[in-house]
Parts: sequence; structure tokens; C-alpha cells
Amino acid sequence: MPDCSTDTHDIEAQLVLADTLCAQRGKRLTPIRRKVLELLLRHGRSIKAYELLDAIKTEHHGAAPPTVYRALDFLVEEGLIHRLDAVNAWSACHDAAGAPHDLLVVCTLCGAVAELSDPAMSRQLAERVAKTGFTLATHETEIRALCPDCQAKQPQSHGHAHSGHAH
Ligand SMILES: [Zn+2]
Ligand SMILES: [Zn+2]
Repeated sequence: MPDCSTDTHDIEAQLVLADTLCAQRGKRLTPIRRKVLELLLRHGRSIKAYELLDAIKTEHHGAAPPTVYRALDFLVEEGLIHRLDAVNAWSACHDAAGAPHDLLVVCTLCGAVAELSDPAMSRQLAERVAKTGFTLATHETEIRALCPDCQAKQPQSHGHAHSGHAH
């Protein structure tokens, strides 16, 4: 269940924005696409497919998994949500109208996400990769990390982990 860090007003504003962005591009934010986006926005952090399917089932009885996956694909393509391979989940983009997010910092414990935009660094990364003969498959780079909350919960996170553990 969401812990309501984002209020309803904020979510409504994000949904209106998503509607506008889609309309500008000649796309349509259908009810199921809108519902999936709303759930992600309300959830606040990233959400896994089965959690999403469960949440949708309670409100949209006819929503079969393929429909939900297609809605997710659409939202990713439109830059309204991010697909996170590091935690096998999706998260709502919190600045869909702004610069594209090329760096996604993902907490591997709880799935929290910080979105960054650093075109210069991404260009450098792409150039480095190109020198190996490879090309990047996606313009988004995921960085696996621990969020502040999870760091606080880690017992050994006080920086003395390597101080004199003699056997
Ligand atoms: Zn984003
Ligand atoms: Zn975390």
C-alpha cells in the first residue's frame, strides 16, 4: 500500500500533464494506461509487475496481464514511466515534461528511484562504449545503489566495516 508521500492533488496534476503530453503527440492516454500510470504515481517508488497486476485487479476486473504489459510499454515509450532492469520493476517519471532522465539511481533493497539528467556524462559514456565496438541499447543508465532510508537500516553502515576485524 502507498505511504502517501505524494498527495492526491499532485498526482492529479501529473495525470493531467500526461494527458496533455500524449495529446500533443497524437497519442491517447486510454483509461487502462491512465490507471497504470496513476498506480505508479501513487506508489511513489518502483513497483513489480505482479504487484501492479494485483493492484489493478482490485479496480479493473477485466485487466488481463497482456493489457497491463502493453500499457506499461506505451508509458515507457512516451517517457511517462521508467523501466528498471536492476530491480525488474517500473517507476513513474516525476518530471515527464522536463529533460529526459539518462541516469536512474535505483535502490536495490526497496526500489526507491532518484532520476538524474546529465547529458555530458551520458555522451562520454556512449563514446567510451563505442570504442569497444558496442552501442548502447538504451539511453538510460541504471545505477544500483542504496537509498538513505535503507542505508540507515543497515547495521554495518557506519563506515567502520573494515577497521581491525582480526581473526
Ligand atoms: Zn524520469
Ligand atoms: Zn532503499
